[in-house]
Amino acid sequence: MKEKIGKILKNYKKAFVPEKDYLHQNNSDVSAVVNKRIAETNCRRILSISPILFVLYIVNIILLTIHNKAQYLPLSITITVALIVYTLFFDILVYWIMFLNQIDNSEEIWKFKLIHRVFWPIWFVAMVIVSCIQIDNGYIGVTLVFTFIIYSLLPLYNLAEFSANLVFTIAVMIIMVLYDHNQEIAYVSTKMEILNFVAMQIIGFVAQRMQLMLWMSREYLYMEAFVDPLTQLLNRRGGDAVFQKERQTYANETEIGIIMFDIDYFKRYNDTFGHGEGDICLRTVGDAIRENMKERTKLMIRHGGEEFVTILFQTNEKELLQCAEKLRKAVFEKHMKAPTDEVAEYVTISIGAAMERIPGEDFRYEKLLSAADEALYKAKQSGKNCVVYAGR
Ligand code: GH3
Ligand code: MG
Ligand code: MG
Repeated sequence: MKEKIGKILKNYKKAFVPEKDYLHQNNSDVSAVVNKRIAETNCRRILSISPILFVLYIVNIILLTIHNKAQYLPLSITITVALIVYTLFFDILVYWIMFLNQIDNSEEIWKFKLIHRVFWPIWFVAMVIVSCIQIDNGYIGVTLVFTFIIYSLLPLYNLAEFSANLVFTIAVMIIMVLYDHNQEIAYVSTKMEILNFVAMQIIGFVAQRMQLMLWMSREYLYMEAFVDPLTQLLNRRGGDAVFQKERQTYANETEIGIIMFDIDYFKRYNDTFGHGEGDICLRTVGDAIRENMKERTKLMIRHGGEEFVTILFQTNEKELLQCAEKLRKAVFEKHMKAPTDEVAEYVTISIGAAMERIPGEDFRYEKLLSAADEALYKAKQSGKNCVVYAGR
């Protein structure tokens, strides 16, 4: 129980500080990555801002009870209670989607967007109604001010959405002016207030665009630093960073398996078909790893020139060797003409595999590499196009 609560709180903290996510080696399109990140952040915002919302609701109920002159009191309390339930419902939904049902596929970001787009406009209208009832009671519109501030700071996805939202909010304000029961304490007292609100929205939108540019450039930097441009797999530095991050997901003691492979006769491939074709071959081998391993691990690394590494957490000997064999077949089945028929008609790879129980938090996978490297050497010695397991 205590552990569960701890986990929920830990996830809740993530609602404030989004994790760095440089695991997008399968996605060379930076803007898609950033779009996903924005959609996620917006979705998280409902969760991170909701303590403030709950305070607003409670303050509203207290104010209404103190200034209990309104014919609308039951209506206002009903709306506020409904808002509490509504916010709680969305909090649970966001928590579930973000942390329990991790969406990895960037095609599914519409779910994040939908939540964001449904939650806030309804919230806004409900809060405006509550605020107007408050003002009708003769109380100054604290809730209204907060509602406008929160709503103007909300991120919008693009210019079209920004414009539509602006029209929507101005329409709400005009309706408020038209239905102003109490001319002495006007909801929106001057035209200036509408102008202020429009200015607030524009500033919010510009700030957001600036944040977007920062995100974009940061993503580009991560991409440059961690992803190999030829194969779009992680490079060594990326492999190390992602390894350390993935490491935290698992218990301190966990089985880790490593598969290291090297293309056979690749030097001759280059010499025979040229470096351009050599690059295409490397890319095809990269695709073969991705196609076969991406469901199982994020750690698909171009370790050196024509050497690749993939790492499996919580694995066992059987699975490790199955994966190695699958990779060997996958590359062969790409049917790239081999430069020599000494091994086979098509390009092949030799594989070394090794496994260990990770002892501590500071474990680095380089420790396992030398075992895999030795096994790979043996595979080359014993005629290539095969898997050699180093044992433990
Ligand atoms: P073996 O079967 O024993 O592995 O022999 P090999 O010729 O594959 O081994 P070796 O390690 O000597 O050859 C590696 C070659 O990979 C040498 C280098 O020209 C080539 N290489 C490394 N990086 C790249 C690259 O980015 N593009 C291309 N086209 N070739 C590369
Ligand atoms: Mg080599
Ligand atoms: Mg080679």
